[in-house]
Amino acid sequence: MMLRLALIAHDNKKADMVALALEFAPLLQQCTLCATGTTGGRLAAEVGLQVERMLSGPLGGDLQIGARLAMGQVDAIIFLRDPMTPQPHEPDINALVRACDVHDVPCATNLSTARLLLKQWMAAG
Ligand code: PGA
Repeated sequence: MMLRLALIAHDNKKADMVALALEFAPLLQQCTLCATGTTGGRLAAEVGLQVERMLSGPLGGDLQIGARLAMGQVDAIIFLRDPMTPQPHEPDINALVRACDVHDVPCATNLSTARLLLKQWMAAG
């Protein structure tokens, strides 16, 4: 089955997201990807991935992804949050992580967990 994956990275984590995507590019090329606006733009430009871009996070992108997830249209999220910087859209971030818990959707909020998740998917074929 084609994995439907949502990708979000806060500004200080965008370089990490690009590096992760380069590392797992062959897998990600086989996924249906969506991302918040700026993250998606970088993944397209720097990794060459086909990504559906939602609004930027602070403008509602997290909520768009959360709505999609609540409708059963997202299989997993990689959400590289910046734990050191206050975010203006903190309520949206919490809502998205909560939606993952409500619907039992895997949500990797750091690189190590993201790698585990992607490796697991590769192993599952
Ligand atoms: P962005 O949104 O990818 O548009 O930057 C993510 C965020 O910073 O919340």
